[in-house]
Amino acid sequence: KLHNTILELKGNIRVFCRVRPMISDGSSATESASILEENSLVSLLAGQKLSFTFDKVFNHEASQEDVFVEISQLVQSALDGYKVCIFAYGQTGSGKTYTMIGRPEALGQKGLIPRSLEQIFQTSLSLSSQGWKYKMQASMLEIYNETIRDLLSVNRASGLDMTRAENGVSGKQYTITHDANGNTHVADLTIVDVCDTREVSSLLRQAAQSRSDQIPLTSSTEQQVQGVLNLIDLAGSERLSKSGATGDRLKETQAINKSLSSLSDVISALAKKEPHIPFRNSKLTHLLQPCLGGDSKTLMFVNISPEPSSVGESLCSLRFAAKVN
Ligand code: ADP
Ligand code: MG
Repeated sequence: KLHNTILELKGNIRVFCRVRPMISDGSSATESASILEENSLVSLLAGQKLSFTFDKVFNHEASQEDVFVEISQLVQSALDGYKVCIFAYGQTGSGKTYTMIGRPEALGQKGLIPRSLEQIFQTSLSLSSQGWKYKMQASMLEIYNETIRDLLSVNRASGLDMTRAENGVSGKQYTITHDANGNTHVADLTIVDVCDTREVSSLLRQAAQSRSDQIPLTSSTEQQVQGVLNLIDLAGSERLSKSGATGDRLKETQAINKSLSSLSDVISALAKKEPHIPFRNSKLTHLLQPCLGGDSKTLMFVNISPEPSSVGESLCSLRFAAKVN
């Protein structure tokens, strides 16, 4: 009951925190910069203890299954006709891709995307036997320097690994529109009908070959009402100053920062129920507009690297989360 009250207050935005295991450099887990206390995470910085509270915290021992158990209800919501967004936020190396995709080839290490798809296909199979009809479609795109790139573009048919330059040459604008039913349309974006996990896995592999860094996946399910499940692996959140980037890399970092700060602005405006929500400030938020706010459900993972050297970045991520939480 308390949890429901919290959800109402937050307009259906939940924030989970996941701290990955130390990537062994010989230092023991007790030297970890962050320690967990139930649903809060305490970060030690220069002897100062800062505590952050989340809807759920997963420590280094949490398995992919442990994490999925906590989100499978959200996946069910998409099947029930809700619009759902799940993000992974955090610095490079903090475990975003591990959380979203995992290591699908390794036993028990599949991430949220393959597990969600399995659940969707299993549920639709069992409902089909009860006379329900489902149609599943998937599209996969990347937002790179505020430009949409179709990860399932027809170039895939030839087996070519599409480079960024080739995509630029295609000159497609991929204009985003939202219809009266709150459905998002991206002009010219490839949409593929899918009916089993194997098909989607092969699409995911294709998409992985043409992505730069992030891999947003949209998989939608349709009955009388239409549900949408957006699964989003965000770009690394490291700060501009630290990245020391110049030239193209600087442009890329600035675009990433714009996406992430717009996302934070939108989510915090929604949480505060502000009259104006700045959806149009970035491609990411514009694209996700119908899936953020309203009666949609949003879950953000904040991924944390436990190494003492990451304390600064971890605190930035935790502050970002506190702002949206
Ligand atoms: P990011 O996508 O945030 O840059 P990755 O997901 O690629 O980070 O994670 C960095 C490394 O840490 C990878 O080798 C990944 O397999 C490993 N890793 C991340 N999270 C976990 C975890 N919870 N358990 C085991 N290994 C993990
Ligand atoms: Mg990654």
